[in-house]
Amino acid sequence: MKAERKGFSTRAIHDGQEPEQLTGAVGVPIYATSTYQQDEVGKPRLGYEYARVSNPTRDRLETNLASLEGGVAARVFASGMAAVTAFCQMMKSGDHVVAGDNLYGGSVRFFNQVMVKFGITFTYVDTKDPENVAAAMQGNTRYVFLETPTNPMMALTDIAAVSKVAHAKGAEVIVDNTFMSPFFQRPLELGGDMVLHSTTKFLNGHSDGLGGVIVCSTAEQADTLGFLQKASGGIMSPFESWLILRGVKTLVVRMKQHDINGRAVAEYLSKHSKVERVLYPGLKEHPQHELAKRQMKGFGSMITFETGSLENAKKLLKQVKVCVLAESLGGVETLISHPASMTHEAIGAEGRARIGLTDGMVRISVGIEEVEDILADLEQALAVV
Ligand SMILES: *Cc1c(COP(=O)(O)O)cnc(C)c1O
Repeated sequence: MKAERKGFSTRAIHDGQEPEQLTGAVGVPIYATSTYQQDEVGKPRLGYEYARVSNPTRDRLETNLASLEGGVAARVFASGMAAVTAFCQMMKSGDHVVAGDNLYGGSVRFFNQVMVKFGITFTYVDTKDPENVAAAMQGNTRYVFLETPTNPMMALTDIAAVSKVAHAKGAEVIVDNTFMSPFFQRPLELGGDMVLHSTTKFLNGHSDGLGGVIVCSTAEQADTLGFLQKASGGIMSPFESWLILRGVKTLVVRMKQHDINGRAVAEYLSKHSKVERVLYPGLKEHPQHELAKRQMKGFGSMITFETGSLENAKKLLKQVKVCVLAESLGGVETLISHPASMTHEAIGAEGRARIGLTDGMVRISVGIEEVEDILADLEQALAVV
């Protein structure tokens, strides 16, 4: 009899996080070992032989994250980019990918500057319209790579609609779900085939470790990625695995507060006279607000707003005191950044113009401090603009 599936918070705290057998330790131990004693030649205990191949702390995290995304298995890597790398290694020369035209800059850099050298080709389209995806599909298209909402334009893609288009052509869909976390969006339940995260962001949640994961919907994907962990070695360390196991225990309470604070900051900014535009799927004026309500269980805390000019953005970012001027996102502290000169510098002025990213835009990852303090900080910073 299949055990009834427990609630999300319960799974976050208990799945893969069971007390350890030997001592009953409630916290998952960090198995700091590179190798394992074998009872006799060819008889490793419990199947553990070498830590690049498997490690009990890492196994626990993989069990946990598979459960949260509703997948059959998960494979964790040293960073989000190591996960993107492993995904690319699932392909062979001659394969083609249809990708969103506003993906995380590091993914695009890896595709265009590394993978193309190995005969894999990429077509970038605005995935807001599934028709654009349909038009870009080729006979050799293996995957559709999506990110929704996008960074920093906060544009959404209808995962269910694009999955239908991809599946009709025999391709699989992989969704970078870093911005939403599995608490707010579960792509596998919407028809996606794999989910990728930079666990560096909301899953870990404390801005103190790097990691990446791919959650699989089939045993075949999991076997291939497990083989790639062993073959290419870009695995997550036991310590980082433990950090994320610890982080996900509070994922639900963190995400709920991120969402409450995110809505409050978006509302505040949308009424401020010095803010020209606010991009946040939770606002009624967001062109895809209805899709956001349908596809996501919350709106999260990623907000982009227009200050009008590079000069204004710089003044504001120099003035903030509670908000931390830094790249990255998803930590408990509010992080604020200037995409044009920081995260999206590499795509060039032309690339930025194409996706509508201006020099006056500021991106904020609203943390879980007292929201009054975040608002007061933004108020005093906007005063100098
Ligand atoms: C940060 C990020 C990545 C890359 O992850 P790293 O852990 O920094 O390697 C990939 N996708 C998105 C959406 C990200 O925000």
